Amino acid sequence: DLVIIVVDIRPHQAIVAIVDLNGRFLAREVVPLVVNPERSVQKIIDCIISMRAQFPNKSFEGVGVSIPGRVHPETQRVILAPNLKWTGFDVKSAIQKQIKLQVELDNAANACLLSELWFGRMDGVRHAALVTVSEGLGSAILTNGQIVSGRNGLAGEFGHIPIDPNGPLCGCGQHGCWETFASSTAALRNYAELVPDSSIRTIQELLQLAEEEDPFAIEAVTRQARSLGRGLRLLTVALSPELIIITGDITTSWARFGPIVQAELAATMLADAPPRLEITTDGELSRLRGAAAIVLQRHSGYHRSTHLP
Ligand code: BGC
Ligand code: ZN
Repeated sequence: DLVIIVVDIRPHQAIVAIVDLNGRFLAREVVPLVVNPERSVQKIIDCIISMRAQFPNKSFEGVGVSIPGRVHPETQRVILAPNLKWTGFDVKSAIQKQIKLQVELDNAANACLLSELWFGRMDGVRHAALVTVSEGLGSAILTNGQIVSGRNGLAGEFGHIPIDPNGPLCGCGQHGCWETFASSTAALRNYAELVPDSSIRTIQELLQLAEEEDPFAIEAVTRQARSLGRGLRLLTVALSPELIIITGDITTSWARFGPIVQAELAATMLADAPPRLEITTDGELSRLRGAAAIVLQRHSGYHRSTHLP
């Protein structure tokens, strides 16, 4: 009875869960994080220890962690997580020391793409990109059936391509990165500009308001959706994917905003046909399943790819 401990670290909270080899969830808990990275990781470790104790009959294969930032492909150190404010932190060793299981880390978008490879429906797809839309904007690249990380894990950080030098300050220190216009944070900022005294604080509240036909909420998310679609054009020109998968907050209102993203994407004259645009169906769970897939990929020695025979 093999299971995997999975962790999805986000700017304000982490989710710790236990997943079986088919990606099914046995337990799940939310851990609020604090400013200090070491203390945050200790809270995660404490949660893992108590969760593990609830399943004395399972054998634990390892720990997989999804990080909202750049992870070095060899050392697995967190190089920079712009919205989490962790730099050069060895999360892997910190957890491994106390949990005594092999710990595997990767970027959140890479995790989601791996989840699609292991548990999803990507058979036969050779060239794809996946974009996570949350506090930040992450992306992952599949080329010839393999996930690309580049020399130091920087490949795929499309969210930090500066598109307007006069744009808002980004968590990475630059101004006007794509993520400052196309993330959930951007939609909330758009809304605050339109309705300065509003009490809306979360993206879920904003999307709900849009579903209720609030014109300012619709406008705020429409601006985000347009920017998301325009950036996908950039990604299309760079990579020529056949499929682009979107995951994250905006997908819960995809019937309304998906066509706006699609229309912007389709405006490219360079691609003979724009890439297929799809959303993930497991929402929040995508990064957790992805964290399990990281462990499966590295421990099985079997590198799942979509290479055709
Ligand atoms: C980071 C990405 C991450 C994404 C997730 C971005 O700011 O640069 O690495 O995957 O946020 O939200
Ligand atoms: Zn940035």
